[in-house]
Amino acid sequence: MTAPTPRPGIMDITPYVGGESKLPGITRVIKLASNEGALGPSPKAAEAYAAVASELHRYPDGGCMDLRKALAATHGVKMENIVCGAGSDELISLLVKAYAGVGDEVLYSHHGFLMYPIAAKGVGATPVTAPESDLTTDVDALLSKVTENTRIVFVANPNNPTGTYVSTDEMKRLRDNLRDDILLVIDAAYAEYITLNDYTAGIDLVESTDNTVMLRTFSKIYGLGCARLGWGYCPENVADVLNRARNPFNVSAPAQAAGVAALGDQAFLDASRAHNDVWLPWLSEKVAALGLEVPPSVGNFILARFPASSNRTAEAADAFLRGRGIIVRRMVPYALPDALRITIGAEDENKAVVEALTEFMG
Ligand code: PMP
Repeated sequence: MTAPTPRPGIMDITPYVGGESKLPGITRVIKLASNEGALGPSPKAAEAYAAVASELHRYPDGGCMDLRKALAATHGVKMENIVCGAGSDELISLLVKAYAGVGDEVLYSHHGFLMYPIAAKGVGATPVTAPESDLTTDVDALLSKVTENTRIVFVANPNNPTGTYVSTDEMKRLRDNLRDDILLVIDAAYAEYITLNDYTAGIDLVESTDNTVMLRTFSKIYGLGCARLGWGYCPENVADVLNRARNPFNVSAPAQAAGVAALGDQAFLDASRAHNDVWLPWLSEKVAALGLEVPPSVGNFILARFPASSNRTAEAADAFLRGRGIIVRRMVPYALPDALRITIGAEDENKAVVEALTEFMG
């Protein structure tokens, strides 16, 4: 008997493993492994999500009208150019499915977000990486890796897991030097945390070109990872393509309702940003003071690099933290086996991880 054979690329995928949330025998786990919002969800969003329960027999609005309207008003963009997805992960997969296939190349930086190679392999395309400089996306290195087969360039800005970012000018230089038929996808999952003069999420580039997409998510600062909600801001031609490629009811009604309510809860957004503004530098400084290398992060997480050879490796630190009920993320799949990624948590969680790491390094 011959078994059904999957399409080329599928068996090359290393399945994405999300951050764990349970440890055997430990009742209060501190989970700093998935860059989830430190303050939980907006209470208004949670209420809106729950309110849809009595309508669970109804299909959701396949056009996400209210949500797109609210997004358009919040960000000053046109709703026709917004496409919503079940997390930005879904939009990454849809873009790859729509624009790449066997023989095509999908380009991203060496320590870039893992969904890019997973999506590329899923359609039989070839993931190609460019080296980084100081754990930061390097525009010249990306440009040097472009070939006639390149179809999409993904830049997570800031990048997960490094936390570093590409300036507005550098991103524009990348776009200016890419062929017009190459789609540039700026994945700005952590944009809301950032208030730097030389950083923009990508709205300007989307509007001034017809080959650039910006992706955003409700999973980070809005604290709605469970709802699976993301959105893309696209030129008209790309929005049209995504609307053909996506499933008709790809975003659930509770997710849409939670998204609208989250956008209306400015106080929660401000509090989340203010929390990160305090604890991101605090955690970065405390961990660096232990002698670990911490690249400058602008997201809601830090990367901590451990000595590769000694008894204080990232692997040993991870085991030690687990023993104290703290889950962070090992970075082996990101080609950073010497690093752990630690999400900014609540005050007591941040203090607990620093206390445990101090003991470990001691
Ligand atoms: N892009 C980046 C850079 C991320 O870090 C994440 C979350 N890990 C995502 C996209 C996906 O987010 P979601 O599918 O939850 O919207």
